[in-house]
Formats: sequence, C-alpha cells, structure tokens
Amino acid sequence: MDARLEAIRDTVLARNPGEAEFHQAVTEVFESLGPVHDRHPEFLEAAILERLCEPERQIIFRVPWTDDAGRVQINRGFRVEFNSALGPYKGGLRFHPSVYLGIVKFLGFEQIFKNALTGMPIGGGKGGSDFDPRGRSDAEVMRFCQSFMTELYRHIGEYTDVPAGDIGVGGREIGYLFGQYKRITNRYESGVLTGKGISWGGSLVRPEATGFGTVIFTQEMLKTRGTSFEGQRVVVSGSGNVAIHAIAKAQALGATVVACSDSSGYIVDEAGIDVGLLREVKEVERGRLKDYAGRRGGVAYVGGGTVWDVDATVALPCATQNELDGDAAARLVRGGLLAVGEGANMPSTREAVAVFQEAGVLFGPGKAANAGGVATSALEMQQNASRDSWSFEHTEERLTEIMVGIHHRCASTADEYGDPGNYVLGANIGGFVKVADAMLAQGLI
Ligand code: GLU
Repeated sequence: MDARLEAIRDTVLARNPGEAEFHQAVTEVFESLGPVHDRHPEFLEAAILERLCEPERQIIFRVPWTDDAGRVQINRGFRVEFNSALGPYKGGLRFHPSVYLGIVKFLGFEQIFKNALTGMPIGGGKGGSDFDPRGRSDAEVMRFCQSFMTELYRHIGEYTDVPAGDIGVGGREIGYLFGQYKRITNRYESGVLTGKGISWGGSLVRPEATGFGTVIFTQEMLKTRGTSFEGQRVVVSGSGNVAIHAIAKAQALGATVVACSDSSGYIVDEAGIDVGLLREVKEVERGRLKDYAGRRGGVAYVGGGTVWDVDATVALPCATQNELDGDAAARLVRGGLLAVGEGANMPSTREAVAVFQEAGVLFGPGKAANAGGVATSALEMQQNASRDSWSFEHTEERLTEIMVGIHHRCASTADEYGDPGNYVLGANIGGFVKVADAMLAQGLI
C-alpha cells in the first residue's frame, strides 16, 4: 500500500477499534488508490480519504418489542449514514444476529463506491439490527419492524435516506416498515423505502435485480475471454434472494448450476438446480435446503462443510462476507475455475482475492458485480418520483444497460491505470473518483 495512504488507514483503524470487517473493507479500497493520489494530489490536501472513512452520521438505538409469549425482547438498531455527496443515503437494512457496528460500517462504506459506480444519484448508507428473524412468527416480525421504525422514521425520507432490504429483510419486512412509517408520518411517501410490493409502489425486477445483475456482470467479464455462460458449470453459495435469481439467470443463459448452500450445508444437483422447487422450499415454506434434497431424486445433501469443495468453472458467492477464504479459492482454481462474480458483499477474503488474481481468474468484486440491486432500487425511486410504473421488459433493459455500463467503467478504469482486467482496481478507483470530485466541489463538509 502507498505509504501516504497507509498512514491514513492506520489512523482509521486506531479510531475504530474492534471493527474487523470495516478495517478489511477500508484496507481493500486503500490498496487500490495509490495511483489516483499521484494524479490528484488535491484529494490528499482536502483530506478526502479521512472524511470518507468518517460516516456523516451514525445512529444506534434500542428496539424493544414483545414476543408471542408476551416476554420483553431488546435488540439494537443501527443506521450509518455514510456519504451523501452524490444523493440521499441509500442502502439496505440487515437483520441478523451477527450485526454490530463493524458490519454496518463495512457495508455502508462499500455502498458508497457501489452506488457511485451505478451512475445513479445515490449516496451510501446501511443499517440493520442484531434481531434474528429465523424461527419468529409473522406477528413477532411485525412487532419488531414497527418498533424499529418508530425510532428510524425521524432519520429517513425520500430526500434524506432511503433504506431497503439486505440479509433477513425482504418484502415482508419492508411492508411492515413502510406501514409504520406511513402511520407515524401520515404521508404516503413511496420513495422513502425500496423493495416495496408491486401493488404499492414497488418496481418490477427489483426482487430479481441483484442476482440477475451479478450474472450479467459476470457474462460481460466472460465475453472479454471470448466465452459466455453457455455450457459453464456453476456453483452458487447461499439460497436466499440473491442466490435464487443468480441461479435462474445463469441457467437461462445456458449454464448448469450444480450446487448451492445454506448455513447448515449444501446440495449437489448434477442435473442443474430446479429453481421452481428451490423457491417453493425457501420462499413459500421458509424451509431449508435439506427439504429440497428430500424431494428430488439424484440430489446429494452435505451437512456442514463448504460448497466451495464442489468444482466449477464459474463461482458466484451469494451468501455473506468472508465465506470464501484463501484455501477455498486455491481449491477452486485447481478445479479449473474461470470466473468469480460476487453476489454478496465482500464474500471473498483478501487472501482469496489474491489467489484468484494471481491465477488469472476473472474476478468481479461485489461493489461492481452486485450493484444491480441498489441500481434497481434507484429505478424504483425514479418510478415513485414520477408516479409511474414500468414494464418488466423495460426495467430489465435498464438493469442490463447499467450492469454493462459498470463493467465498462471498471474495465476502462483498470486499462487507464495500467492494470487491464483488474476489476478490483477499476471498481475502487472508478467509484472513488466520482465521490471525491463531488466532495471537492461541495466544499469542506
Ligand atoms: N442491500 C443491497 C446491497 O447490498 C441493496 C441496497 C438497496 O437496494 O438500497 O446493495
């Protein structure tokens, strides 16, 4: 890392002790930014990096609610409003027991660059709670969401901060959150949240967008090697919203997706995963992959272990941060891996990224490859602002244009900085320069 940047990075780490994931995300971005500061000393003079690493606002709050047995439960709520140089803070809410400030800050930090890369007018933010929705009834989830919004509502708005979903927050949760916002404020402010239901201000393609976008981005990378998804053997991790739609899109493009996972294990389905059955098990029944294996012949279910033991030519990590380490990366490379498209946020450790790059594997980092979700959220905001709703075809066409555009921006930035094919460099520099220019123009804020 450039010595000037290393000194700034060390200060950031010291000022934010114990936030391992935030440290990792900052380090990864800083490793790309040396050459930009050679060309733009004005960014150093204006302390752009120091400012970027300090969120504009961080909100932490108590979320009290009662469970179905009438017991009082207390969770912690977060919203980190990281950067508003390009537009209102934009980013999802994650409900998962692992959530703490370090996770929310890593996600918010990544979101700044991801959102800049989309070319849409959105700043970066993220939030969530250590609430675990798993095993909770609809009524418990509703009471939790209502309590969460009873504090959050005062901080958000269509021109201020626009939350959406992430792990543990889907259509059901956005519905309860939106209902409570509307009730408290007495405003039908559609643009305050994205990921809404289609009959009340949501956008077609938003549920599919992150997974579809990841595959579109990966297809663009494959094209640079004169190939495509046709005939590829694909392994996807996760089996939530992002994974399901990545599997569907990859198979629509002619690939066979042979494996996916949940937090208990993974399935290997050599015939290609049956997306209809997977959706039935995961989305309708809120069940586990074990149930999928029980209902379809020729499927192996492996409890525990890692899905990265399954050989693939294309890997799409769509589960969570740091799920793919250096050893797994080395194994995948030995098995003939061609490309990795990150559907999750920071799923590959820094060691894994180094292994992929060293081996010449095409590697699309999450902040570029999974930007289709938030980009389609921005399309939802556009439809809300114009009180319009677009067709599936039109919205998917816009998503495709945006993903092809992000690929082009990353690739051309990597070329410009003398490291062709380095999408990590291209994404970090491409996103950073856009935000840094806007921050310079807006003065010391
Ligand atoms: N949570 C998603 C992400 O990581 C989507 C955020 C949004 O739509 O605002 O980008």
